[in-house]
Amino acid sequence: MGEDTFRRPSWDEYFLGLMDEVGKRATCDRGRSGCIVVRDKQIVCTGYVGSPPGFPHCDEEGHLMKEVVDEDGTSRMHCMRTIHAEQNAICQAAKHGIPLKGSTLYCKMEPCRVCAMLIISVGITKVIAKKKIPCSSRNPRHVPAGRRRIGRG
Ligand SMILES: [Zn+2]
Ligand SMILES: [Zn+2]
Repeated sequence: MGEDTFRRPSWDEYFLGLMDEVGKRATCDRGRSGCIVVRDKQIVCTGYVGSPPGFPHCDEEGHLMKEVVDEDGTSRMHCMRTIHAEQNAICQAAKHGIPLKGSTLYCKMEPCRVCAMLIISVGITKVIAKKKIPCSSRNPRHVPAGRRRIGRG
């Protein structure tokens, strides 16, 4: 590769690449996603899809499938064994006393409804999802994120 072919990644590309790397530690193969929360171009916490510490992993014990019924009556199967990457990142920040107000969250897919509510509650003001599809692609009810500011940002 010559110097002409080198293109320095943007900050968003850089953090999305790291987010992919974090997701490789996920313990459920239904979606090995990761999450990175950044403030002032500095990573403040990370998370990946996984069981709480000390609990069995999907990769070892199999999934813990449960039917989830949405408000509109449609149902879908969901693995209940793991905590979503976004929630794990927020938990990590709580564990270490790191404020997330005004930070940016990088994730693989648009956060699900529960994650989106938590993201708003902890004061994260921007979400950048690598893929503009919701966490559960069969679930039409999701908070659109992609590349947009939440709240007053
Ligand atoms: Zn699973
Ligand atoms: Zn979620």
